[in-house]
Amino acid sequence: MHEIVASADIEGISKTVRSPANAFIDGRLQAARSGRRFETLNPATAEVLGSVAACDAADVDLAVAAARRAFNERKWSGAAPEDRKDVLLRLANLIREHAEDLAMLESLDSGKTITDCRAEIGEEVPRFFQWYGELIDKTFGKIAPTDESALALIMQEPIGVVGLVLPWNFPLLMAAWKVAPALAAGCSIVLKPAEQTPLTALRLAELSSEAGLPDGVLNVVPGFGETAGQAIGRHMDIDAISFTGSTETGALFLKYASESNLKPVALEMGGKSPFIVLEDADISEELIENAVSAAMWNGGQNCSANMRQFVHQSRKDEFLGAVIERVGRIRAGNPLDPSTDMGAMVSAEHRQRVLGYIAKGVSEGARLVTGGEAPLPGMAGYFVRPTVFDRVTPAMTVAREEIFGPVLGVMSFSEPEEALAMAADSVYGLHATVFTRDIDRALHFARRLPCGTVSINRFTEGDIKTPFGGYKRSGSLARDNGTEALEQYLQKKTIWISRSKAGVGATSA
Ligand code: NAD
Repeated sequence: MHEIVASADIEGISKTVRSPANAFIDGRLQAARSGRRFETLNPATAEVLGSVAACDAADVDLAVAAARRAFNERKWSGAAPEDRKDVLLRLANLIREHAEDLAMLESLDSGKTITDCRAEIGEEVPRFFQWYGELIDKTFGKIAPTDESALALIMQEPIGVVGLVLPWNFPLLMAAWKVAPALAAGCSIVLKPAEQTPLTALRLAELSSEAGLPDGVLNVVPGFGETAGQAIGRHMDIDAISFTGSTETGALFLKYASESNLKPVALEMGGKSPFIVLEDADISEELIENAVSAAMWNGGQNCSANMRQFVHQSRKDEFLGAVIERVGRIRAGNPLDPSTDMGAMVSAEHRQRVLGYIAKGVSEGARLVTGGEAPLPGMAGYFVRPTVFDRVTPAMTVAREEIFGPVLGVMSFSEPEEALAMAADSVYGLHATVFTRDIDRALHFARRLPCGTVSINRFTEGDIKTPFGGYKRSGSLARDNGTEALEQYLQKKTIWISRSKAGVGATSA
C-alpha cells in the first residue's frame, strides 16, 4: 500500500485508488442532508473523478453539534496530552502507510505533480502530526510572581470548536498545517476543504478514526464557499476560525465574525512576493534555479510565489537569458508522470483567469519573452505554459495583482533602495527573497522588507519549526507552523488562588 508505484503502472493503479465521497460527521461518512452532490474533476484531463456530498448550513449544524458534544464530553479535550500524542503519532504512521494512495488521489484531484504530492504527503504531512503530537506534552503554562498571599496560575486551554477553511493549492498539506496543532491543543474541528479538492481531507478524517480519534472530534464538510464556508464563518457555536485562501474571502470571514459571535479569525491569505537580485550577486545556476522555482513551483499556485523579480540593471540581461533557458526546460504535462515538473491549473475557470492576466500583461506593454496564451499541445486539461514577462513596470496589473499561475515578471533597478521601495510597494506582505553576497545589505533588506518571511540567498518558506504568515493583506497576526500555531487553538486562563485567613491559621497551627 505504501510502496511507490512504478511509473509504468501509475496510470492504471491510480484509477483504482479508493476515495470517500460523503461528508465525515461524528465519526462516519454521510450524504448531505439535502442529498445534493457536486462533481470533482481531474484538472489534467477535464474528466469527472466522482461526485461528493455538497454540504450546506444544515450539515455544518450537524458537524458543529457533533464537535461540541465531543468537546464537552472531554474524551479528547480533557485527555492527558501524552494520550493525544499517542493518537497523533498513530495518525502520522497511518498517513505514511497510505502515502502513495493519498498522493495519487491528491494528484488526480488537484492537477499537482505526483512528485510534489509524494513529497508533501509522504514526508511533510505526517511530520506535522508527529511534530505537534510530540510538542503537546511539553507545552507548559506559567506561574505569575506574587506575594505569599496568592498563587497565580496561567493555564492554556483548548479554545473549543474550531472551523478550518482551506484552499486548493496544497490540499492535504494545508489541512495538516491546521488540523495537527488544533488536535494537539485538544480542540474539536469542523473542516471545509476547497470545493476543487475535497478528496484527501475526507481520507484524512477516515484515517484519524482508525488512529483512535474519538467520534465528533474531526468533522469534514465538503461544499462550496457561499454555502458551507459561509455557514462555518457565521456559526454561533464555532469558537474560532483558521482560514487560508484569498484576501477577498479572508475579509468575508472578518465580516461573518463581526455579524455573528465575534469569534477570533486567523487569516493566511494572498501574496505578490518579490525576488531581489542585488548587483553583487553571482548569477549562478543555483540562483537561477531558485528564481525559477520561486515563481513556477506548483504552477505558480503558491501564496508565497516570488512573481515580481527585481534584478540590478547591470545583471538583468544575463539573468533574463538564464531564466528563459531554464524555464524552457520545465516539463509541463501529465501530473502522474514522475518526470513532469509542472501540472495543470486547478480548474478551467482558474486557467482562464491566469490567461486573462497574461493578455493584460501584453496589452499593458510588458514584453512576453516565453510562454503565453497558446495551449499545451496534446493536453486536454487546464494547462498554462510557464510564462516570463520582461520590462514589467510597478504600475502594471501583472506587477500588482496576485495571478496564482506560472507568470514571472522581471523588473530592473539601479540603486538598492529603489529595489527595496519597489519590493515593499504592495498591499501584500507574505514573503521575499534576496540574493546578495553582502551580509550587511542582506540584513538591511531583511529588516526593512514588510513581510512575514524573508529568505536570503535561497528561496524557502522555512519549515515546520518556523512560524509562517503575512504582514498587511497577506495575513492576520496569527501564524501557522512552529509553536506559534498552537496559539490559534489555545486560550489563556488565569487562576488566582488567595490564601484565606482561616486557612493560614489552620495550616500553621
Ligand atoms: P478562496 O479564497 O477562493 O477559497 C478558500 C476557501 O474559502 C475555500 O474553501 C472556499 O470554498 C472558501 N470560500 C470561498 N468563498 C467563500 C465565501 N464567500 N464564504 C466562505 N468561504 C468561502 O482561495 P483559493 O482560490 O482556494 O486559494 C487560493 C488563495 O489562497 C490565494 O490567494 C493564495 O495566495 C491563498 N493561499 C494562502 C496561503 C498562506 O498561507 N498565506 C497558503 C495557500 C494559499
